[in-house]
Amino acid sequence: MTGGTIGEPLTWNVAGLLSDAPGSTRDYRVAGVTIDLGEDLQQADPIEGEVRLSRTNRGLLVNAEFATALGAECSRCLREIEVPIQIHLEEEVLPALDLATGAPLDASAEPDVLRLNDHHELQLETPVREAIQLAEPIAPLCEPDCPGLCSVCGERMTGGLHEHGDEDIDPRLEALLGFQVDGGGETR
Ligand SMILES: [Zn+2]
Ligand SMILES: [Zn+2]
Repeated sequence: MTGGTIGEPLTWNVAGLLSDAPGSTRDYRVAGVTIDLGEDLQQADPIEGEVRLSRTNRGLLVNAEFATALGAECSRCLREIEVPIQIHLEEEVLPALDLATGAPLDASAEPDVLRLNDHHELQLETPVREAIQLAEPIAPLCEPDCPGLCSVCGERMTGGLHEHGDEDIDPRLEALLGFQVDGGGETR
C-alpha cells in the first residue's frame, strides 16, 4: 500500500534520487499509513496522499499533500466526531553525509533543517506529526450550525421543538426561566 517506503511509516530511501541530476523528481503515493500522534491526538483515518521529491543542488525538496482525520469531540454538543485534516509540506532536506566521500556533514551550521539519516533515508514521520498537530482545530464542530446542548436537560438540541416534563426541570432553573419571562414582559 505504501509504494516506495521501507518498513518505517513515511520513510523512503532516496539514494537513487541523490545520484540523479538536480531537477530530477520522484513521485510516491501514500496510503493506509498510521503514525503515533502522541497522547492527545487520535488518528481516525489512515494518512493518504502524495509526495514529490525533487533533487536540488544541496539535497532534496519535499512537496507533499496528505489527508487524514482526527477523532475529536464536538465543542458544542460533545458528540464523538471525526475532523478531516489536510496538510501540506514543503521542506528542503539535506543529506547527513557528504555524497561523494561519505563523511559526516557538519549539521551545526543549519541545525533546524531536516536531514536524511545515515542510510540516505528520508523520514517524514516527525514533520507530518507536527503538521497534523498544528492543523488540529481548537473548537471542532460536528456540523457548522451544531445547536449544542439544551441548558435545561443537557440533551443535544435537535433544532426542532424541545419540550420537558415538569419533572425534568431543576426547581432553581424553573425559577430562572420564570424570571426571564417576566423580564421580557417589562421591556414591552
Ligand atoms: Zn455538535
Ligand atoms: Zn432540554
